[in-house]
Amino acid sequence: MRFPFDNSFFKEMQGFYAPAVAEIAPNPQILAFNDALAQQLGLEGPHDDASAAQWARWLSGAEAVEGSDPLAFAYAGHQFGHFSPQLGDGRAILLGEVLAPNGSRWDVQLKGAGRTEFSRSGDGKAAIGPVLREYLVSEAMAAMGIATTRALAVVATGGRVQREKAHPGAVLTRVAASHIRIGTFQYFAAHHGEPYVSQLAHYSIKRHYPDLATTANPPLALLERVIERQAQLVADWMAVGFVHGVMNTDNVAISGETIDYGPCAFVDHFKAGAVFSSIDRHGRYAYGRQPQILHWNMARLAEALLPAIHSVNPDDVETTKALVDTVPSRFRAKWEANLRAKLGLSEAQDHDRELFDGLFEVMEAQGADFTGLFRALAQLLRGDVDALVPFGGDAWDIWRYQWSARLQSECGAVDLAVRADAMDRVNPLYIPRNHLVEGALEQAEAGDLHQWQKLLAIVQNPYRLQADAEGYDQPAPAENPPYRTFCGT
Ligand code: AMP
Ligand code: MG
Repeated sequence: MRFPFDNSFFKEMQGFYAPAVAEIAPNPQILAFNDALAQQLGLEGPHDDASAAQWARWLSGAEAVEGSDPLAFAYAGHQFGHFSPQLGDGRAILLGEVLAPNGSRWDVQLKGAGRTEFSRSGDGKAAIGPVLREYLVSEAMAAMGIATTRALAVVATGGRVQREKAHPGAVLTRVAASHIRIGTFQYFAAHHGEPYVSQLAHYSIKRHYPDLATTANPPLALLERVIERQAQLVADWMAVGFVHGVMNTDNVAISGETIDYGPCAFVDHFKAGAVFSSIDRHGRYAYGRQPQILHWNMARLAEALLPAIHSVNPDDVETTKALVDTVPSRFRAKWEANLRAKLGLSEAQDHDRELFDGLFEVMEAQGADFTGLFRALAQLLRGDVDALVPFGGDAWDIWRYQWSARLQSECGAVDLAVRADAMDRVNPLYIPRNHLVEGALEQAEAGDLHQWQKLLAIVQNPYRLQADAEGYDQPAPAENPPYRTFCGT
């Protein structure tokens, strides 16, 4: 089989990357392969032992893939608010861009295949746990319709990776519309100035948003489009209780895809200040701070794009500032639209904000399970009067009354059961709950992938009640210690 490569970044963007060579894995074995995604990409997956062994060699980096032009992207980034001028792909190697049968273009990247020019003191490797975690969570996000990088495969390298202890090594094959980040713009703005920033903007527009090429100021239009995509993304994350955990500017993709599944987690017992990452000591990236960080990150993108915007039209500098000021209201509109759908409402009304604020107040006061609550609200509409008992019971009385009145105010004729069904189509029943993920990874690390595979199959089908999935919709037992996540795959 040949990969339908067409490596535009390699060809057109010299100076924006460093060539890279993967390390040869001692004994590569496929642990997971995403047949559905392979098919979308026009790739024929493994179908017997020989092809599985071939795929394992390709996707561990042990054997070069014909037509690939392996490279590591250069990028910078603000990490926890501090600018690091030199990051880059330290543990990721792009194999190339695949042109799918439908004409779309996808980066295929190996994460954990060894050192590159940007590795600094790192080993360029990844341990099996974080790799399987990224596969599971990113595929769950895709199943919930949230823009994300995807996972094509996990290959065990047969080697060991030293972290706080030694772990089996693995390589994740990540698929993305592209890996261009805010940090990519920051790198070239900081080191090389306007011509490079303009070239990168031009390439990004051609690749992702070709309709912007003929606008009056394309780099400015690019900024606006990325703001729209990122505002939608953060609104979508928050609608499923997702905490990204490391919204550094090097982890914010121009395509609007979720990228970097290091320390992410889902809120269960709701708290706006929920933080899971062990290194986020001041809660910079807490659940409820994500909209402010979105705004801050968009200001950093604006700064990096400014030389290119200015070179098209110096008068647009003021427009750029005004555009960044619109981030909170753009986010708010998308967030409220999501909440309306989650609550079975179809039209915007004047006092919706109070209804939403009230919902989150009760949820937090009761420590209600975020995911379960929205399914319970649909059950309430179906006539299950006890549906809210596990979520605070009587504490919901006033809010329930307001919600009910609000539902009635919308062309009252629409059947509540129809609304409940619509809610269940946007409110997941199954998410990768933190304690389930940890349990599955513990077993996987010990060599047994069954639990991981079962959890993956369940979260790939998030909305419908599944047989044999009892308990998978429940939050962690109250006696569990607080959940902690770690950076670094
Ligand atoms: P991340 O936390 O994934 O956003 O990574 C931040 C930076 O650290 C990026 O430049 C990574 O390429 C680099 N990095 C993280 N882990 C490693 C590693 N094990 N080896 C080399 N570079 C790494
Ligand atoms: Mg990263």
